[in-house]
Amino acid sequence: MNPRYAASEAVSKRSRPLSSVSTSLSSSEAFGMHVFNRSVMQKMLPREIYKNVLNAIEGREKIKPEFADPIALAMKDWAVSLGATHYTHWFQPLTGASAEKHDAFIDWNSPDQVIEKFSGKQLIQGEPDASSFPSGGLRSTYEARGYTGWDPTSPAFVWSGGDGMTLCIPSFFLSWRGDVLDSKIPLLRSDKKINDSVMRLLRLTGISANYVNSTLGCEQEYFVIDRIWRNLRPDLVMAGRTVFGAPSPKGQELQDHYFASVKDRILCYMRDFELAALKLGIPVKTRHNEVAPAQHEIAPVFERSSTAIDHNILLMELMRQTATKHDLSCLLHEKPFHGLNGSGKHCNWSLATDSGVNLLDPSNMPENNMHFLILLTAILNAVHEHSSLLRASVGSAANDFRLGGHEAPPAIISVYLGKELETILENIEAKGSYTRSSDKSFFDLNIPFTPDLAKDNTDRNRTSPFAFTGNKFEFRAVGSSANPALPITVLNAIVAESLNHMLDEIEKNLKSKGRPTKKALIEAALPVVRKYLRSSRNIRFTGDNYSEDWMAEAASRSLPIVKKSIEAFEALKSKKSATVFEGILTEEELHSRYDILADIYSHTINIETNLMVDMFRTQIFPAAIEQQNKLAASITNYGHAIGASKGLTRQTEQLQLLAEHIEQAIEALNGLEEARQNAISMSAPKQRGKAFCDKVLPKTEILRELVDKLEAHIDDALWTLPKYRELLFLL
Ligand code: ADP
Ligand code: MG
Repeated sequence: MNPRYAASEAVSKRSRPLSSVSTSLSSSEAFGMHVFNRSVMQKMLPREIYKNVLNAIEGREKIKPEFADPIALAMKDWAVSLGATHYTHWFQPLTGASAEKHDAFIDWNSPDQVIEKFSGKQLIQGEPDASSFPSGGLRSTYEARGYTGWDPTSPAFVWSGGDGMTLCIPSFFLSWRGDVLDSKIPLLRSDKKINDSVMRLLRLTGISANYVNSTLGCEQEYFVIDRIWRNLRPDLVMAGRTVFGAPSPKGQELQDHYFASVKDRILCYMRDFELAALKLGIPVKTRHNEVAPAQHEIAPVFERSSTAIDHNILLMELMRQTATKHDLSCLLHEKPFHGLNGSGKHCNWSLATDSGVNLLDPSNMPENNMHFLILLTAILNAVHEHSSLLRASVGSAANDFRLGGHEAPPAIISVYLGKELETILENIEAKGSYTRSSDKSFFDLNIPFTPDLAKDNTDRNRTSPFAFTGNKFEFRAVGSSANPALPITVLNAIVAESLNHMLDEIEKNLKSKGRPTKKALIEAALPVVRKYLRSSRNIRFTGDNYSEDWMAEAASRSLPIVKKSIEAFEALKSKKSATVFEGILTEEELHSRYDILADIYSHTINIETNLMVDMFRTQIFPAAIEQQNKLAASITNYGHAIGASKGLTRQTEQLQLLAEHIEQAIEALNGLEEARQNAISMSAPKQRGKAFCDKVLPKTEILRELVDKLEAHIDDALWTLPKYRELLFLL
């Protein structure tokens, strides 16, 4: 039987949806139960040590070496009480995924007596062989040594996998020379930078805070399909997306999936991974169906960026693993299905003080929100100055399929502010003052922001890659499978730089030292704000980012239009980027990131091309030939039956068309394979990436079009690859 038919039967016979593993737990009981969090530490650690850890979490103090052993002991006892047998340093190398290497809590008291042991030294430092992690040439393989170092800012947790538990210690990852080989170190450094510059602003504007950090809330989009379909598609198994597939007769055109009621089976799955997430302290909150069939979204409540990023990486892993338990497959790829919406990870970003004051919420401290105007201007200027770097930070072969389609922000970075803010800024630009419609001038930028901006929450521009949404920015161009660390690092770094430039100028304008009066500050700041608003005005765009007109308009504004990520990555190597990354990554480290990203880009396209070639030769071509045979045999048999002279002209025409179509597909395949071989043989990352982009990708499109047409003309019983209508609707 055709495996698709067997699969279809299996899907319809699926037993009732699996219910959640421990449904008896309420959310409040589950929350944080697998985290070595503050309340656990407070109970288990002596006061002095607990205080030291708290200070380390807030970046104010290092862990005292003499405390490492007692902390490790408490951590181990806590983890073992939950069933943990192993520990691992858990880190984020430059593969985009997380990495772990487990060691047992085991030591020998005597040759035949084992005890559970974990020391401060093991907590603080690990030494995995680093030679097989990407380093972009920073470290030759013979210098294999790499270190993982405990990151006390992120709490340790136990991970439940298989039938056991592992204590995971969030860590950094560096080479033996100290080169940064992960995404965590730069992120924390960028947070330090933004803290320093925003604290400078707050001191000037008279807002008290101990420290500032960036906050992040990730809206994670994903697809879920029955696992059996995925297993029958080598492309979904290997590449996470379908490299072939004719459109389903019904797609997303009826707009009947967005916010529709969630299917029972999916709800059970959601509940299950949400419960696991809550146990890890991930504050999952919102879930709904997304636009495309089989597409959904989950959004946790925002947290400090570094925590939110760890949580996002863990959440994606939970989503993948829990899906398997439910006979489902969670597709986190940016574009699993051609012709349908892809998936993003909208990164909601803001800046908050240690006491939780959101500095991008203009309704906070309405009597004193000069800081808001300066910050907003600094952000606009930063995005304008470094839009190429932002574009690079969201680049990948996968995200290129999504960016610039009519479903996701285009490859042009612009900022949407909403009408009300635009009016305010335009007035400042034009007159150096804030003017309301009554034309009454304000200098003190008081309450006027507040009531009107509240409306902005409804006046959303869903087409903008970087939109202000009333109290935060939503960076919508980030891809669904990406580690959001790089985009957030870039955002923090560019805003810190831009704000420092503005503050330099404002401070110069201030006549006297010390905290200025409100009037003096306004007089010193407004001209600077005005100047920066004017120079960055091209980055602001309120219209439809999906429209053709915007492409032309953006070009006339000289905004970078970078459609292909391999070109976007170039921004990592510019002098401007090296300056903005000072203290975060060295020029050499930035270049290495370029090499890594370019390598991953090329390999991704290479793998997908290999899949196309393999699937064509072993599944598509045989089906096409059989179809051709059947048609030819039928025409011949007919001729035999009623006399050879009676031709079936239309059917013969069909046969000729089919044969011609198969010929074209073979030719396209040969061309593709030749281009692929040529590209992969190149050794320079840039040259190779360009070859895959310019020479290979267009050929994959040609082959795909031909194969998708074949799919629509071949006997359903001969076609073994699950079709879009099955992948998307049969669950
Ligand atoms: P939407 O209408 O886009 O769904 P939500 O208010 O639901 O907006 O927020 C989406 C995401 O933005 C959530 O993860 C939320 O926690 C996050 N978010 C809200 N406020 C902030 C903030 N100050 N900083 C960062 N993220 C935030
Ligand atoms: Mg949203």
